[in-house]
Amino acid sequence: MADKTFDTPVLIVGGGPVGLSLALDLGRRGIACQIIEQSDGIVYHPRATALNARTMELLRRFGVAEQVKRDGTPPDFPHTALYLTGFNGYEIARIERPSHGGRAPSPISPERPQRCNQLWLDPILRDRALGLGHVRLRYRCRFDTLVDDGQSVVANVTDLTTNTTERITARYLVDCSGSHSPIRRAFNIKMSGQPALEYHVSVFMRAPDLWDHHDKGKSALTFFIDEKGGWRSLVMIDGKEHYRLGIMGKEYYDNYKTIDVDKLFTEVTSPETPREIISVIRWTACDVVADKYQVGRVFLVGDAAHQNHPSGGFGLNTGMGDVDDIGWKLAAVLQGWGDPALLDSYETERRPIGLRNINQAWTSFADNRDRPSHPELTKDTQAGATARKVMGEQIMATQHAMVLTDGIALGYRYEGSPIIVPDGTEATPDTPSNYQPTARPGSRAPHAWISEGRSTVDLFGGNFVLLRLGATPPDGTAIEAAFRRREIPLDIVTLADPAIAELYQQPLVLVRPDGHVAWRGAAAPSDSLALADRVRGARPQT
Ligand SMILES: Cc1cc2nc3c(=O)[nH]c(=O)nc-3n(C[C@H](O)[C@H](O)[C@H](O)COP(=O)(O)OP(=O)(O)OC[C@H]3O[C@@H](n4cnc5c(N)ncnc54)[C@H](O)[C@@H]3O)c2cc1C
Repeated sequence: MADKTFDTPVLIVGGGPVGLSLALDLGRRGIACQIIEQSDGIVYHPRATALNARTMELLRRFGVAEQVKRDGTPPDFPHTALYLTGFNGYEIARIERPSHGGRAPSPISPERPQRCNQLWLDPILRDRALGLGHVRLRYRCRFDTLVDDGQSVVANVTDLTTNTTERITARYLVDCSGSHSPIRRAFNIKMSGQPALEYHVSVFMRAPDLWDHHDKGKSALTFFIDEKGGWRSLVMIDGKEHYRLGIMGKEYYDNYKTIDVDKLFTEVTSPETPREIISVIRWTACDVVADKYQVGRVFLVGDAAHQNHPSGGFGLNTGMGDVDDIGWKLAAVLQGWGDPALLDSYETERRPIGLRNINQAWTSFADNRDRPSHPELTKDTQAGATARKVMGEQIMATQHAMVLTDGIALGYRYEGSPIIVPDGTEATPDTPSNYQPTARPGSRAPHAWISEGRSTVDLFGGNFVLLRLGATPPDGTAIEAAFRRREIPLDIVTLADPAIAELYQQPLVLVRPDGHVAWRGAAAPSDSLALADRVRGARPQT
């Protein structure tokens, strides 16, 4: 799909889950793109596992949600978070998450939060993207430097298989190269926030039927606490036999190649528990956001733009939100109906969400870090029992917001965006755990079932959609005509269900290609062309 002067319309640097998702989103919208990835594409050590409901909605749009559920954690595996002194010690607290996993309908989304590690997610995304035909993926191809001349971006890359260098010319370059982004560094973009909060060693391991070797039952997340405080964690990866043991501490981080991780595991289980160590890496946790998400024709997306402490599991999920925002805007500009200024709204809309999510990750981390322990926490004494009870109550009071995050997942909204038309209504509370459905402009258009297995959310993700709601919806032809004049693709959907009309609060609601409400009203605005221009990023024209 290369044109005369460009090798590709969009060059994506980095083939992690965010780069692959962007390629998929662009590909679905008919935009050719090329991903370059320096590695061989194989995920050797598991990182992201927790996929929130919004990410699952995007995966549903991409047509892979069912496969993600099939390849991820079995539906009956509980997403319980456990706080223990050890598997053979005491239970301190237990947070159940019945709204996670499984296949039952949800009142707030057509999808529920799921667990599918990148070990399985990345290949699903890759295969789907490549199946679209106009997505090109090159492994073992490293980005080196770039020049943005105002009309195009020229990337200098190295083919690591042949060790040859070449140039790739693109209209836009999207940096999905993760936390060590060479592009962010080349532009000298600073990361603001809290660098190096904690030092970790991560151990990928097998422990088949671990729950048969202790009496605490199955859990997705297990946090181990001793008399000094939190010290180890165990994250279930596949609901069967794979886990990630997390060991916190600079002394372990500095010596991660020589520490006896097998012994460290048996300290929280027992020496008899069958296990096999697969791989060991080290990493540092931080809560940081890039000061800029855009420089000219280059955009920072995913971990290149923000990194957070993994408590809460926001990293990949926030990156998926970035993809949702930048994907349709790039497509709109490349297809000619979006004004180039539309792309500037990516940073305006997404950077505040990066800050919001990083802030919540920081709060969860601080709650955990600052919780005092007790010298007898692990002991079979009255003082130990009391200490566990007190700590358990503190955990229940603060950690719901770390492990139950529907508010973070579904409640983000684009306040102050130049391409959203506010309607003067008051914002719903923005809280980490509780999502309050709303169609207030800037919000994700809320879910309601419109027929068996089909949600309002399924209407969005392609063209703009004008919803005409209620028994006698107002005429939408003026808006339709304005969109036609500006060549903006628009679908008109009429839904008589009074419950949906009540949920959306106005009978005319304009929803963007990313499923966010752009405008709503009781009747078409007096100047529908101005509305069309605003949502496509242009100043009103006559
Ligand atoms: C222990 C741990 C647990 C986590 N758990 C969760 C979770 O449950 N849920 C969640 O949402 N997030 C979680 N995260 C965060 C999540 O892993 C990241 O947010 C996510 O991987 C970011 O995806 P990305 O595609 O932006 O970047 P990455 O996954 O880092 O991918 C970037 C890609 O760019 C490539 N690249 C880099 N430089 C170049 C170059 N010069 N040329 C070409 N290619 C290049 C890299 O090889 C890499 O493949 C966790 C992170 C950690 C460390």
